Amino acid sequence: MPVNPSEIARQTLKLLLSRRVSPTPENYYAIYNEIAEPQGVRVEIFPENELKALLDAIPVETFAQQRLRRDLDETIRNKDWNAYKDTLAGFIGECGAEPETLWSELVGELIRQWDARQAGLTSARKREALEHVLSGTAKNNELLYTRLQNLVKSWSLEPDDTGLPDLVELSDPLEPPHSSDVASTSEERLAATETLIPEFRDMLAYTLEVMLFAQIADVPELAAQTQKIAEAVRAVNNFRAVQDVLAAIKRLAFQLEFLAEDRNGLRESLVKLLRVMVENANELVLDDKWMSGQLEVVRDIMSRPLSIRAVDDAEQRLREVLFRQSQLKHSLLEARESLKHMLAGFVDHLAEFAESTSDYHDKIEACAKKISQADDITKLENVIADVMRETRIIQLNAQRSRDDLRLAKQNVDAAQKRIDELQNELEKTSELVRHDHLTGAINRKGMNEILKGEIARSRRRRSPACLSFLDIDNFKKLNDQLGHATGDAALVHFAAVIRETIRPHDTLARYGGEEFVIVLPDTPLEEAEGVLVRLQRELTKHFFLNNNEKVLITFSAGVTEIRDGDDEESVVKRADGAMYQAKQTGKNRVVRA
Ligand code: GH3
Ligand code: MG
Ligand code: MG
Repeated sequence: MPVNPSEIARQTLKLLLSRRVSPTPENYYAIYNEIAEPQGVRVEIFPENELKALLDAIPVETFAQQRLRRDLDETIRNKDWNAYKDTLAGFIGECGAEPETLWSELVGELIRQWDARQAGLTSARKREALEHVLSGTAKNNELLYTRLQNLVKSWSLEPDDTGLPDLVELSDPLEPPHSSDVASTSEERLAATETLIPEFRDMLAYTLEVMLFAQIADVPELAAQTQKIAEAVRAVNNFRAVQDVLAAIKRLAFQLEFLAEDRNGLRESLVKLLRVMVENANELVLDDKWMSGQLEVVRDIMSRPLSIRAVDDAEQRLREVLFRQSQLKHSLLEARESLKHMLAGFVDHLAEFAESTSDYHDKIEACAKKISQADDITKLENVIADVMRETRIIQLNAQRSRDDLRLAKQNVDAAQKRIDELQNELEKTSELVRHDHLTGAINRKGMNEILKGEIARSRRRRSPACLSFLDIDNFKKLNDQLGHATGDAALVHFAAVIRETIRPHDTLARYGGEEFVIVLPDTPLEEAEGVLVRLQRELTKHFFLNNNEKVLITFSAGVTEIRDGDDEESVVKRADGAMYQAKQTGKNRVVRA
């Protein structure tokens, strides 16, 4: 007989009445199933609303909770009571398998390893690794747990760096801690941390305010910043403030790094400058062995790594050189003074000589007169004696004058020789000077030094830098048609236009003849190319004037970026190669290497 639900319902109502039980849904369904079950039918009421309310109450903070909620939701929608039961039981079973203490243990270990000092692991590196794990597992708690566990494990495997006892050992230096001690040692740890934190804070503030401040007092901006951070450190009283202070310290550290780089650069330049001065001085004192020796020692000191002692030593020796120089200068002045006296004396002699010569003439004349008037030999004898005497005097005078003259000539020759020598030395030293006399641009030697510094700087700062090689087009023709002097003036004009076009921190150098180099720091290749194109335009606006006639100067250029592994030679060579291509492909062009 087929089951008839409405018949079962009718009988159910009858039975409810006859048994006099209250007509609640529960009683109704109990009696309904009592009648229906023998017929192989059973009706279940599924408490959907209650279960949904329960579902809403489940937190969704962890991955497992999210999964539970999703699974339960499905069983409710399917009205599948058995599946619901299984899901819930499974979840509770899993909770049992994963002890609740696991996270707290992991966090505890994380803190321990964070505080510990491992060889080759700075706290910056630890922070970086931790941030990496955190950012990579933002939405997946299980993954976060596993990765964090691996990270902490890897830290614990690093060898200890300090050799200092950690806080646990401090509580009992002779015995390793027993498990029963753990509670007390962690309390001690906490207590120790609480007393240490104010001390640490004060120490940090002191370091900033006194020690660091003294180092950067000459950079008011940074000094003020340091002062402010030190004040903030003292006032720190919550986690947020700690984070702010840390961020400020990080920013300061970044700026200090730049400052240190600049200072290093400055120190290197000063040492270089000193070396050039010492070398130049050495060129000037070639004939003074003692001074050469002293300068040699100074140069040797400057070529070794700098230390306070070495610098003091160099200073001492330079002082001695200066003293010797002042002595020399003194004797030079003396020599000059005596030369002056000598010349004055000589002029006096000449005057005397001239006087005595005219005197002699007068006397001889008088003698001649006496001779013509003489009437006896005895008178003549006297006259002859007079003549002899006067002649001897004039002879002596002449000899003295000749000697003086010879001496003076010797002195003049010596002075001339010294002047020639000095002139020579000056020319030699001017070779060491870094500027080209005609255009005022830096010469090749100077450029090499600047380029070397720029290559190092761009590498250090990871900022792009470029170099351009320029060669004036058809310059020989200009020289041939207008003359060498006009060619020179054209070079001066060309260099002046370049200097006005490039930025102050770019460097123009005369590489040789009609070839120039421009060093462009902090400039990517496109920008450098732009500078050269602008220069081409400027030359068409500012003509070179020869007797009021406009002469257009054009150039061909190669430009290249400074690359890893470059040195001065390789960069110039590459730019020169590109310049050659510009010449080959029609001149008046800019070609990238
Ligand atoms: P290109 O376009 O192929 O560069 O031809 P160019 O004539 O410019 O090149 P070349 O190298 O044949 O000639 C360069 C000329 O520059 C030759 C030289 O006399 C001249 N020159 C080099 N230095 C100076 C200088 O200081 N003053 C003057 N007036 N001329 C110079
Ligand atoms: Mg050339
Ligand atoms: Mg040329």
